[in-house]
Amino acid sequence: MSQSPPTPVWDLSPEEAAAKAAAARRAAGTWRRASVAQRAAALRELWRQLSARRAEAAAVIREETGKPHDEIELMEFGPAALLVHYFCDNAQRILSERPAWTPWFLLNKRAAVRRLPRGVIGVISPWNMPFLIPFGDSFCAMLAGNAVLLKPSEWTTRTALWLEEAAASTGLLPEGLLTVVAGRGGAGEGVVDASDLTLFTGSTATGRLVAQRAAAQLKPAILELGGKHPMIVCADAPLERAAAAAVWGSLANYGQVCVGVERIFVEAPAHDAFTAKVRARMAALEAGGGAQLGRFIYPPLLERVQAQLEDARKKGASVIGGEVLDRAGLRMSPALVLDATPDMAVMNEETFGPVLAVTKVGRPEEAVILANASAQGLAASVWSRDLDRAEAIASQLEAGMVGVNEPSSHYALGSLPFGGVKSSGMWRRHGDEGLLALTQAQSLIEHEWPADLPDPWWFPYEGRRTRLLARLLGLP
Ligand code: NDP
Repeated sequence: MSQSPPTPVWDLSPEEAAAKAAAARRAAGTWRRASVAQRAAALRELWRQLSARRAEAAAVIREETGKPHDEIELMEFGPAALLVHYFCDNAQRILSERPAWTPWFLLNKRAAVRRLPRGVIGVISPWNMPFLIPFGDSFCAMLAGNAVLLKPSEWTTRTALWLEEAAASTGLLPEGLLTVVAGRGGAGEGVVDASDLTLFTGSTATGRLVAQRAAAQLKPAILELGGKHPMIVCADAPLERAAAAAVWGSLANYGQVCVGVERIFVEAPAHDAFTAKVRARMAALEAGGGAQLGRFIYPPLLERVQAQLEDARKKGASVIGGEVLDRAGLRMSPALVLDATPDMAVMNEETFGPVLAVTKVGRPEEAVILANASAQGLAASVWSRDLDRAEAIASQLEAGMVGVNEPSSHYALGSLPFGGVKSSGMWRRHGDEGLLALTQAQSLIEHEWPADLPDPWWFPYEGRRTRLLARLLGLP
């Protein structure tokens, strides 16, 4: 595997990028005239046709990322299907005009909040979910009435190009409504400049650059950034499920998941039984080979994860596994890091690889302090048979998303806002608020009757009328 992107990458010239942005804006002008119901119907049909061709997309994803077949079905297409059905069923409710309050003496006026499309949404996405994230964000942006300029990661450009071509071939969308802007980071900057709102998913470092660039133009940016999921396993946890969740949560997608489990804090009485179950499950998984575990998608990660393991060893952790299996093929054996401490890189930097790092704690309260010590606050989970206690612990965690006996399925539930606090991001995708964020609020006041009469607070001011109005307003 070479250390440069495996797909042909080109940086569009400024003229090419401007032409794409202009086409997207024209398409936005046409699309915004469609009703929410018409948009939902078109996008539902779009999904029906795309999902029927998903074997083609899967072949491209597999080539670009090395993901196992089942993982592509379960983590790329499955959640996409749930999002399509949820949002198409609920778009009318979320996006329809809402009546707004008026005081009793303005009953002759109607107030309402309308949701209008923003225009062009820039979707900038990473390589770890090359179909799900670009598709899911573009789909929501289009459902809300916008055109999309999609900048995929340069490592997974071909998956995005497949999406663009497959969507265009359905003939369901205005030409240019979903346009891929391929290239390196500079293409992403162009997308921020050409869009009315940027929906960015990626690292915290790049997210800061995007936020600064958008802010300088007084444009909004939704930022979905890195995470460091703390999993708190209480002494009374359902250990079999917790161990299975720790292994899946850390190793699915080869650990390259923003909400993936990165730190495991286990209450002392459960520690040995929990780690024994984890070890058994890891061994069984490795025996399953390539049908279970993929590879690193982004080549520099192999060395970065190896450096984290070396740092952990030097600082006193025992590392089980973690050997490089195939440097060119970007594969290592999954690693279990025991006795991990907060000063280790594996506990305080995003790992994004097949590593489980475990710390034994005296009490769950200690785990909460350690969990919250991270700069990241994306997903977190608490494991206990006492659901009330687990929920109480979860409410103390600084995280945008929490699970109780549940690792990280939030993305698939369109009903839930998805996003993080602290350095993990700003604003949310999904949920009512995520779809609404892709629209502008337009506040309406409509004077209904009497048609010709001016309002009493207009010119000319008259002391007697002013005093009457002041009384109506409750001014003493
Ligand atoms: P990066 O931040 O490196 O890149 C993300 C995207 O931004 C890529 O398309 C990249 O293009 C583009 N980009 C790079 N520089 C700029 C710039 N200056 N302006 C605009 N766009 C730019 O992230 P990765 O691709 O490495 O993805 C991994 C990260 O994504 C992890 O931190 C992970 O946690 C996070 N992530 C967060 C999720 C969430 O929902 N919170 C979900 C999934 C991942 P190019 O690739 O061409 O450089």
